[in-house]
Amino acid sequence: MPIMRAMRPDETKIDLRDLTFDELKEFVREHLEEKPYRAKQIYEWLYRHGANSFEEMTSLKKELRLHLQAVASVDPLEITEILKSEDGTEKLQFRLQDGAAVEAVLIPNEGRMTLCLSTQVGCAMGCAFCFTGTLKLSRNLTQAEIVDQYRQALRHVGGDRAWISNVVLMGMGEPLQNLDNVVRACDILMDDNAYGLSARRVTVSTSGLVPQIRELQERSPISLAVSLNATTDEVRSRIMPVNRRYPMEELIRALEEFPNPRRARILIEYVLLAGVNDGLDDARRLAVIAGRIQCKVNLIPFNPHERSDFRPPTPEHVLAFQNILLNAGINTFCRQSRGQDIHGACGMLGKGAADGGEETRGTEPSP
Ligand code: SAH
Ligand code: SF4
Repeated sequence: MPIMRAMRPDETKIDLRDLTFDELKEFVREHLEEKPYRAKQIYEWLYRHGANSFEEMTSLKKELRLHLQAVASVDPLEITEILKSEDGTEKLQFRLQDGAAVEAVLIPNEGRMTLCLSTQVGCAMGCAFCFTGTLKLSRNLTQAEIVDQYRQALRHVGGDRAWISNVVLMGMGEPLQNLDNVVRACDILMDDNAYGLSARRVTVSTSGLVPQIRELQERSPISLAVSLNATTDEVRSRIMPVNRRYPMEELIRALEEFPNPRRARILIEYVLLAGVNDGLDDARRLAVIAGRIQCKVNLIPFNPHERSDFRPPTPEHVLAFQNILLNAGINTFCRQSRGQDIHGACGMLGKGAADGGEETRGTEPSP
């Protein structure tokens, strides 16, 4: 029975945010022996009104609320800290039920707000430039934990779903290693009866797990970003161990086959590391690769942190690199670093979990 997936081995209660709407209907019929409209009411309380307890679901009769309390849970993620950057970016630190910590980042930009969500506790991929990559993977986040980052961030900004216009799954973890929960969580984000985000405004970023990219293509219309970060196998394998398993040509071929007319263009992310992958030859090779894919290129100057010796190129060099791509007709933009002062920029998440912990960057991918 599908709803059993929502019951964790150590728990007797079903987390209702682990269910799709259809599964919730089944739960209401089979476990509560209630009419289907109750499922709609509960779903709306969860995702329209952001209820954090059954008590808040005041349109449900008292006996039903007590029954729900006995068999189900909607316990919110606990926000343990909110850090605000001088550029307006906010980092929310959450404590999960088992005590693990993850982070989400709210990034305001010209009247719009992007929310960056985590999908795993730590990350197994071990990319050499990434702070999160120094935290070994503890576990995947559940569907409920992914959705709840959004729910709690929305409550934090005032509760109106129009205020968060874009969601990127670019926080802690490799989302496609947690494909099932990511797809199901994004289905809730895109459901009109929940948050109603369009597939173009929900983007998942991967380090390049080829079989999972193909599976995503089958299962979800969400937009795809890929961290390419190098233009030769030699360099990419050195800074991203995943490349030893799925070399560049295999990855590029999967990306050539990925698009369809309803989907947003693929975003190719390219972290610029001075003296490593930022040569003007790299820019020319990147233009050739990008020319094969329906994509935009997003250059990301390296965000320095205490667990890496890489450096970002100078702004002038970034511009020279970008100009080569633009002159080759590739739509290329440079990501402004946001939230560096709160350890909240790209590749910097997990500081709360790391403090006091050992540094254990993986060297082999375990997709
Ligand atoms: N695991 C996924 C998504 C999270 S990482 C992925 O790798 O795609 C989000 C982005 O941050 C990736 O494009 C990654 O290459 C980039 N990144 C990691 N560490 C960085 C750093 N120190 N500075 C700038 N970008 C970084
Ligand atoms: Fe993991 Fe992405 Fe960081 Fe690589 S860049 S270690 S895949 S979070």
